[in-house]
Amino acid sequence: MSRFLSARLAALETYTPGEQPQDRSYVKLNTNESPFPPDAAVCDAVAAEAERLNLYPDPTGLALKEALAARYGVAAENVFLSNGSDDILNFAFMAFCDAEHGAAAPAVSYGFYPVFAALHGVSLTPIPLRADFTVDPALFCAAEGMAVLANPNAPTGLALSAAEIESIAASQADRVVLVDEAYVDFGGESCVPLTKKYENLLVVQTYSKSRSMAGARLGFAIGSRALIRDLEILQYSTNPYNINRMTMAAGLAALENDGYYMNHCRRIMRIRDESKAALRALGFTVTDSLANFLFASPPAGTGEALYLGLKERGVLVRYFGTAGIEDYVRITVGDEEQMARLLSAAADYLKEAGYETK
Ligand SMILES: *Cc1c(COP(=O)(O)O)cnc(C)c1O
Repeated sequence: MSRFLSARLAALETYTPGEQPQDRSYVKLNTNESPFPPDAAVCDAVAAEAERLNLYPDPTGLALKEALAARYGVAAENVFLSNGSDDILNFAFMAFCDAEHGAAAPAVSYGFYPVFAALHGVSLTPIPLRADFTVDPALFCAAEGMAVLANPNAPTGLALSAAEIESIAASQADRVVLVDEAYVDFGGESCVPLTKKYENLLVVQTYSKSRSMAGARLGFAIGSRALIRDLEILQYSTNPYNINRMTMAAGLAALENDGYYMNHCRRIMRIRDESKAALRALGFTVTDSLANFLFASPPAGTGEALYLGLKERGVLVRYFGTAGIEDYVRITVGDEEQMARLLSAAADYLKEAGYETK
């Protein structure tokens, strides 16, 4: 870094994205992408929109907001659009926290929350999980500052019910409760309906996981008109044209073909549950994930050794190595063939390492 960088940024620990290796082809189960391509109509919409790239996109994104509003049973003014949902998380830390008003998030959760907090000088209180990795809503009710909950949580895959989230939103009307529903389409219970009742509840979703569009960068938030306006202040103070034309067109086309995606979500859920059973049969400890990934610990050896053993065998999973989850890896649920390769690589690794499988 240069000597010109501010001391605050020089000290910042940035987010480490999952590997995107270009050297060889892996069975790529490390960044929770969908194994399925977008619907053909999405690709057609992108190609058609490319012809209008000389023109700025609509900064209000009204057409897409209206379509999302219809899909989720809210009004367009309750919808905010962003360039990936990470942008909304960033905006939320800027909008709803400051040096005096901090935030609270589960001690084991999405690795970006602490980065945003540090970036904006916000103190983030880690809320310890129970021994089984579940979140205790009562601790959130008692905590101060913006509550940030991935639900289902990452990387554990475990979810709170909407009623439990409601108890947190109801406990303190004067702070924002941000529910990051990046994985909700794989079996979780959405809190979107609750946004009508709680003006302090902000639900964030993304096209990256359940709608096969990680490469397009499209996220959205649903909440009270007032919260959405707050986020718009950030949009119009940073990047008014935050969604490019092709992504906007892709987002609309995807909603028009929602059945295609929801079918794939069901297929992922079935493959997830079958893979969980197969891993348990090999002796793995696996949480009851409601997301498109499995959180698994091998019967012997460290999580890191498993990660390396799988990588050697051409299968890429995510190892975090952070406190409390050193024994675990996170495995994205791929298609049937990818999961068969994961399972045979895992069995081979355990055998070669001399660990007995059940
Ligand atoms: C993947 C993910 C996101 C953000 O994804 P975008 O691609 O930026 O929309 C947000 N939260 C969690 C918990 C995630 O896993």
